Amino acid sequence: MPADLLVRNARLAGRDGVCDLAIEGGRFTRVGTDLGVDAKETLDAEGRLASPPLVDCHLHLDASLTAGKPRHNESGTLLEGIQVWGELKPSLTEDDVVARASEIVRWSAAQGTLFIRAHADVSGDNDAMVRGLLRVRDELADLVTIQVTAFPQDGIFADEADEARLERAIELGVDCVGGIPHYEPTSELGLMEVHRVFELAREHGRRIDIHCDETGDANSRFLEVMADDTIKHGLTSRVTASHCTAMGSYEPYYSSKLHGFLRSSGINIVVNPYANSLIQGRLDPYPKRRGFAQLKELLRAGVNVSLGNDVIMDPWYQLGKADLVHAANLALHFTYMSGLDEIPEMLACATWRGAKTLGVEDEYGIEEGKPAHLVVFDAPSPVEVLRLQPVRRWVVRSGRVVAETTPPVTRLFHEGREETITFAPPATGA
Ligand SMILES: [Zn+2]
Repeated sequence: MPADLLVRNARLAGRDGVCDLAIEGGRFTRVGTDLGVDAKETLDAEGRLASPPLVDCHLHLDASLTAGKPRHNESGTLLEGIQVWGELKPSLTEDDVVARASEIVRWSAAQGTLFIRAHADVSGDNDAMVRGLLRVRDELADLVTIQVTAFPQDGIFADEADEARLERAIELGVDCVGGIPHYEPTSELGLMEVHRVFELAREHGRRIDIHCDETGDANSRFLEVMADDTIKHGLTSRVTASHCTAMGSYEPYYSSKLHGFLRSSGINIVVNPYANSLIQGRLDPYPKRRGFAQLKELLRAGVNVSLGNDVIMDPWYQLGKADLVHAANLALHFTYMSGLDEIPEMLACATWRGAKTLGVEDEYGIEEGKPAHLVVFDAPSPVEVLRLQPVRRWVVRSGRVVAETTPPVTRLFHEGREETITFAPPATGA
């Protein structure tokens, strides 16, 4: 019996040489050198890196592609973004949300992102955002695995109806319960919000993903409360804190205490490089702070950190094209992850560490018996993927090629000669 698909001559991270991947019935059946199996379809990776898919751990799919509606965010701040979004969202329809979100899911899949955690705003009267994203999750399940978080953008205590709206969204079938404690009117209400989110998640058996301390205020310390609640409820890796940018302003003593506490809680941290680099520190006088979670130090302390695109052509960010490798490259620069061992770690943050955040490890990884999801980068190694941000030669979902890109060819004409520029360093030692 021939295999359904054979990927030949692929490099795998952390493994010498090239190997072949045989796929049958949507799963990897054999992974090894020179398998010599017949297959209905064969892809020759020619020494390119094959990786488990990219995992986008934080994406506001309900707001994507709305930039400029009803107006632009002139100040570029988080608060004006929330204001603009608040003006737009009463008019949104479920079909409009589905159309825009589906478009971004297709962009993501085309670039090798086959797992996404999306956030649906559940504050306010209009429930089109959560209904729309739940539809996208179900309708596109064969292309991308999507988890939907019920995200109360305006908090749950400023408007007395918002707590009930969060509960209603959970009943509609979201995967995760979200929160935004630093946006509540007082710290006390922020604390109450964190506790309430944990209670709701436990009651309904959902994961937790809270926008936590997304501010430059060093006194914003809801993350320690999340870690404590995680331990008390025994939820370990089912809990994620997103953004955590106040950490960029924490003092060394508090930071080191927090790192150990985060590790023992098993909580996941998600860094969102586009919004964090442009929004945080924006109104600082010079010298300006970098508003990033302490990614490098957290990894060193044994905390799981992953990445999200967060914002794509929306009230917070005009640019973006759902490329998580570009996001990883940006995070690398802002968090000083430039060591030779650290650069590949950024691809880990965009891949298997994200799978850990989403809790999908059982269906993730290039291993015999697992679903055959993979991306082949047009580059031979994780370092080259971060350097070149190359096209994704092929993207495979459950053994089916769902996207392919022909690598560009660049020719230089100079001094009467024509040469092809590959951006590869010249071979040495020959
Ligand atoms: Zn967010």
